[in-house]
Amino acid sequence: MHKLYAENILIGSDWQTEVTLTIDYGIIKQINKGREEGAIALNGAVIPGMSNCHSHAFQRAFAGFSEYRGNSEDSFWSWRDIMYKFVAKMTPEDAHIVAKFVYIEMLKAGYTSVGEFHYLHHQADGTMYDDPAEMSHQVIQAAFDVGISITHLPVLYTYAGFGEKKPSKEQARFIHSTQDYLDLVNQLEKSYSNRSNFQLGIAPHSLRAVSKEQLKDIVPFIRQTNPKAPIHIHIAEQLKEVDDCLSFYKERPVEWLLNNFQMDEHWCLIHATHLTEEEIKNTAESGAVVGICPLTEANLGDGIFPTVEFSKLGGKFAIGSDSHIGINVAEELRLLEYAQRLTSHQRAVLVDENCPSVGQTLYTKTCKDGAISLNQNAGKIATGKNADFLVLDDNEPSLFSKKESFILDASIFACNQLPVKDVYVAGEKVIENGQHRLQEKAKNQYREVLKKLA
Ligand SMILES: [Zn+2]
Repeated sequence: MHKLYAENILIGSDWQTEVTLTIDYGIIKQINKGREEGAIALNGAVIPGMSNCHSHAFQRAFAGFSEYRGNSEDSFWSWRDIMYKFVAKMTPEDAHIVAKFVYIEMLKAGYTSVGEFHYLHHQADGTMYDDPAEMSHQVIQAAFDVGISITHLPVLYTYAGFGEKKPSKEQARFIHSTQDYLDLVNQLEKSYSNRSNFQLGIAPHSLRAVSKEQLKDIVPFIRQTNPKAPIHIHIAEQLKEVDDCLSFYKERPVEWLLNNFQMDEHWCLIHATHLTEEEIKNTAESGAVVGICPLTEANLGDGIFPTVEFSKLGGKFAIGSDSHIGINVAEELRLLEYAQRLTSHQRAVLVDENCPSVGQTLYTKTCKDGAISLNQNAGKIATGKNADFLVLDDNEPSLFSKKESFILDASIFACNQLPVKDVYVAGEKVIENGQHRLQEKAKNQYREVLKKLA
């Protein structure tokens, strides 16, 4: 058991002063007024750690390799071709090194948990590794090594398009039959279910990559294993996907999902960019979380999620760094708000009736909904929650003279990235003065992997 003292701390949605946190086995046991004996001071404003609801760790390795115009019209689909070429050479050891490096970057940015939407499963020709969970072990171990909480979301990917289209040879590393996939989920459940800082969910890749029958098999399966296990799916990211879904199912992707499954807050719809008013309303009512990835969606030219409309209806949403073109909490939230300003010609758009601060509204909401989307006992500083929090750098000029509700506005809108000084995950200090104990070694290993892959 240990005690930490904060002069200025965001508890739930209220800023409080002079508070002692008592932490036991990674959980906040007590929050008391005043400085208790033996409490170590946290020097700077304290805010909850952010959940990164959507990551493909391996994609960090080719961020910056696809920002040039090729022969044809560049789009999500041409980006994907470059990604496939890059991934062909990646070994399990490489995947571990890349994941370790990117998870350190996440911690330094202020993410304390990550949802790893994991689809790089097999050898380059599609043959399973001797241990079919080899690639999962590598990314999970990377998270354990660096101290970020992980929700592992093994992906079911079977087809190349609607109507059970045969996958290409570039997709061989991703492909499972339903039975092989369920075996993998079972194996992971057995291996890790008693580990702290770990949650397991499932991720049918998208409606184009799995059939209706497969969804009808895997959703009840995971619900039986764990009623709260997250189910994540890419959906309605691209207009072509919406058109293909309309031709095949005669319904739009989100509409189809709502009509065929009982969605709730344990579902996370990744992107859900292209929605009708009806879909916005029904998704908000279902309780499902939308996983918005503003930087990646901008980078890939996906479109803009209707955040204002969705939020007004009480919809839940989280942020994810997806392709890792940037790992920057402030930039994701800033872009989320700025996209709405640019299209509505207004300022200070994403606010709540109870909180006029855009920064605080966006931060507390995405923290809370992000933790829900990952089934992590986190998302706010409160008794009974994991002791996951950030200490902000009071030497950051944009925070000078900023009191309470201005702290998050300044941190998100007036700093290039969140001014994170220290990071605690389950009560353990994993970032100190902006540094991680493994960062130099991780960077050197990452450099060697890049030399090989590029
Ligand atoms: Zn994704």
